[in-house]
Amino acid sequence: MSTPDEISVLLVEDDEDDYFLTLDLFESIDTRNFVVTWADNVETAISELQSGKHDICLIDYRLGPVTGVEVLESCREALRSTPAIVLTGAHSAEVDDAASKAGASDYLVKGDLTAAVLERAVRYVLQRSDSDARIEYLAFHDPLTDLPNRLLFSDRVTQALARVARNEEEVFVIFFDIDHFKDINDTQGHAAGDQLLTQLAHRLRNILRPSDTLARLGGDEFAMCIEGCPTKRRAEAFIARAQQALALPFVTDSGGSVVVTASFGVASTINTSMDPEELLRNADIAMYQAKRVGRNTWSHYERSMHEQLERRIALERDLVRAVNNGDLEVHYQPFVSLSTGEVVGFEALCRWDHAARGAQSPAEFVGLAEESGLIVQLGDYVMNTAARAATEWRQAHGFEGFVSVNVSPHQIADSGFVDSLVRTLDQTGMQPEHLVIEFTETIMTGDIETVVSVLDKIAELGLGIALDDFGTGYSSLSNVHLLPISILKVDRSFVLRHQERKGLSMLKTIATMASSLGVAAIAEGIETDEQLECLRALGFPIGQGFLFDKALSADKASELLAGGSQYRVFQ
Ligand code: C2E
Ligand code: CA
Ligand code: CA
Repeated sequence: MSTPDEISVLLVEDDEDDYFLTLDLFESIDTRNFVVTWADNVETAISELQSGKHDICLIDYRLGPVTGVEVLESCREALRSTPAIVLTGAHSAEVDDAASKAGASDYLVKGDLTAAVLERAVRYVLQRSDSDARIEYLAFHDPLTDLPNRLLFSDRVTQALARVARNEEEVFVIFFDIDHFKDINDTQGHAAGDQLLTQLAHRLRNILRPSDTLARLGGDEFAMCIEGCPTKRRAEAFIARAQQALALPFVTDSGGSVVVTASFGVASTINTSMDPEELLRNADIAMYQAKRVGRNTWSHYERSMHEQLERRIALERDLVRAVNNGDLEVHYQPFVSLSTGEVVGFEALCRWDHAARGAQSPAEFVGLAEESGLIVQLGDYVMNTAARAATEWRQAHGFEGFVSVNVSPHQIADSGFVDSLVRTLDQTGMQPEHLVIEFTETIMTGDIETVVSVLDKIAELGLGIALDDFGTGYSSLSNVHLLPISILKVDRSFVLRHQERKGLSMLKTIATMASSLGVAAIAEGIETDEQLECLRALGFPIGQGFLFDKALSADKASELLAGGSQYRVFQ
């Protein structure tokens, strides 16, 4: 290549006299320094053009048996980096047309050539090719990080796939994004987010091999294509290096410092597909799996992930619709006084009868709603429906018991939760002391101070608070006294294992603990007379389970109350 102030010219001319004439013209131009390489035959011309060494090519139209235009046509690709001007003996509209179709940038008549004409033509062609190159660069690169964009990535993957199809190698595509990137944008501002992405691109560039392609696909999404005998190990080694690169804090202009992690998904041509789009999509699906198992990790694509994901996406879409249309139902499972057999309350349990797939498991669709944030809306709906039902039962049957509603940690964390409770009480006329919220110990893994303050507010409203599935989880028993609890619901698994020493001692401990804390103990999942007997003997005041009833529709629950609602609790 030429130095910046030199212009390297390839002059393709089979006539020696003409070559010297043109060379003289170049040498008489004193504004620029031209270095001219002479190719006097087609073979040399083609190899010099393809070498990419020259800034511009001047090519004679008549080159013995072939034309200069034919030569250009055979080197079209090379003209992207070395634009060409065709020289002819005389004006010809046809030659002009053929030259431009072959990719030539201009055409000049030898008889008209002067130093000034030549200098101007060369200058124009070079300027235009510079801006063409710039436009092309912008079309295929991400302006923020300067990395290839999605378009170029997809092109590179296509080329890589064509190469491996010939020699039966593998191509790996890795898709990754930054965990909780949105939080960084939200808390530190978009400028900080952009700086992080730029620094990240810079760090990652340093760990690439020449044959790797790293691209920014948009937002915080990146992709990497590995070819040249890659293996699963090499893909994982790249991920490990990328994780190391991420581990150092990113410093933003405002002086803030951020530490981030990323989740990676890997797909290769062996286990998936030879289609570039599909390969990328599969890597994306694998990344989604990495996110699900806890982020800051990677997953290799497996076909089963695809089906799972498609099923989840479809189900989530239908769930949104069901929540919006009010297609969900709420059923009510009785709480029974273990001393009298009376119904003292109901637990509201959400039911979804999917039009095509039938009844859905609450554990599954509630989980889905939690992941997508839909739980806030769903929970609000259940709360409202249950409060309305309880008010009706009170008016119709003088029912004075309580209704308890399950609440997920996401709802507690939602700033509008307490307000929504107040709204429900206002709109339904429900007495707060007849409404209980149930939450599980997973809530304790969150920010405990916030949780306590929200629960305190709820208790101040007069609602009851039940700790559900108690004994299975996270709350060290010592934390329980921090919470304004009125009910402990001992987990079904201990009721099931009441004949084992461990199960029984757990039941005893919880009964004792409840009475010392002054809260009610409820045993859930009672299925047999024997279990009932045991729990009565341990002094559990309230029980729940299939032995009495499963969750009933609102109508059935109403019928139960109308009929006196008494269960048999002793032999
Ligand atoms: P959970 O709160 O522990 O509810 C008790 C689950 O045990 C219910 O399952 C109930 O039908 C079942 N069950 C009751 N008695 C027995 C028994 O004697 N034996 C057995 N084997 N099972 C019994 P379901 O309705 O499938 O609900 C599962 C979970 O889904 C609930 O567990 C709760 O965590 C969640 N869930 C249901 N509805 C809602 C809701 O509206 N909001 C929230 N956040 N979660 C809900
Ligand atoms: Ca519950
Ligand atoms: Ca439970």
